[in-house]
Amino acid sequence: MSRRAIVIGAGLAGSSAAERLAARGWTIELIERADAPAQGASGNLAGVLRPLPSVDDNRLARLTRAGFLEACRHFASLTAAGLPLRWAQTGVLHLARDDTHAATQQRVVDVQQPAADYLRFVDRGEASQLAGWPVTHGGWWFPGGGWVDPASLCRANIARHAVAIKAHYGCRVAEVERRAGLWRAYADGGAVIAEAPVLILANATDAGRFAVAAHLPLRAARGQVSHLPAAAGSAPDIVVCRLGYVTPAIDGLRCAGATFSIDDGETALRTADHAENLARLAFILPGHAKGIQPADLGGRVGFRPLAPDRLPMVGAVADATAIEASHPSRPLAEMPRHPGLYVINGFGARGIVWSALAGELLACLITGAPLPLADDLVSALDPGRFLLRGRQRRVRRDDAGSGT
Ligand SMILES: Cc1cc2nc3c(=O)[nH]c(=O)nc-3n(C[C@H](O)[C@H](O)[C@H](O)COP(=O)(O)OP(=O)(O)OC[C@H]3O[C@@H](n4cnc5c(N)ncnc54)[C@H](O)[C@@H]3O)c2cc1C
Repeated sequence: MSRRAIVIGAGLAGSSAAERLAARGWTIELIERADAPAQGASGNLAGVLRPLPSVDDNRLARLTRAGFLEACRHFASLTAAGLPLRWAQTGVLHLARDDTHAATQQRVVDVQQPAADYLRFVDRGEASQLAGWPVTHGGWWFPGGGWVDPASLCRANIARHAVAIKAHYGCRVAEVERRAGLWRAYADGGAVIAEAPVLILANATDAGRFAVAAHLPLRAARGQVSHLPAAAGSAPDIVVCRLGYVTPAIDGLRCAGATFSIDDGETALRTADHAENLARLAFILPGHAKGIQPADLGGRVGFRPLAPDRLPMVGAVADATAIEASHPSRPLAEMPRHPGLYVINGFGARGIVWSALAGELLACLITGAPLPLADDLVSALDPGRFLLRGRQRRVRRDDAGSGT
């Protein structure tokens, strides 16, 4: 197979897939409807990079650990290559919600004995010292966590392979089709933008518009982040989380967020959402939001592409029509797939954590290289999972109970 792929979407998902394939000698046609990369969910000023441990080291904990470690490696290599990625490993303090949660956090550390440079439990006093602000509880301290400017990550991924990645900006893909062994991306009006043996759908919820991907249960979760004026050097100079997050001052602004509402299409900033973010900030750092008026704040709205089980979709797209016509109960390994069609999507609220790992996994799946994850985790991310028998009913129930 010639090593050529079309990638639709130049956010964290598309730029990561393009970067990992280009690193293996592939040429990429990267098609983006906006005039620049990272104008969608990936365009926030900053987001948080940290894993999410659990006492039983469950699937999400293992995946976020793998994603976090791969992200740290990838970001360090972009920085070492002189690419203008903006990020800082300031450390992330994940404060307990209450005493019960603090006990659970402590237990995770006692049971798992992680390396201290990965995770420690800190008591309230040390947490207050780290935050530079009095807090009500202790919590997890991730010294290697921090903040990332996701748009700079997208740009760095693309710039690393400036020759191999041919970007088509301001170019919306209206339809896709496979003809004579090649996938074609068509513009409005029917002109062919690009063709290649491999097509990767990294265009967030818009992917569901294409008939071949219509079965993927993608939804949008609106999120508003608030930008607070912040003097350089003011506290906190680390990221602090507690049912929300606040970043250090970045270019004179501190990001506090974020709201989360599914199927809410409002693109304009809402004062009520700023008020919600200020309430979150007050819960994280009592008194920090004092005197700030929601109506005075700037911010940004984005739409997180979300799967009902809150895990990304990374891999070959199943052929839903072929499944329904023959064996509805096929296991993942036997599921019929569209030749050369892949998806990297559904990053939800964790695109910064997932993108490097998801890009690497997809490149390995496409090229047949050894996979960077255990088989059960690869299956957990397989986009075919939504067509497993009994799964659709289960997913709908999970979704109803999941809240954020
Ligand atoms: C408020 C908020 C806060 C967040 N905070 C964090 C955080 O702290 N930590 C973290 O890890 N993650 C965070 N995230 C999540 C993260 O930003 C997303 O998971 C990630 O950006 C999704 O990347 P994506 O590439 O899938 O989607 P997008 O960035 O939306 O990219 C999809 C791209 O496809 C393009 N496109 C769509 N349709 C077409 C078409 N037909 N033709 C051509 N191009 C098309 C779009 O223009 C867009 O550029 C946050 C998200 C939001 C909204």
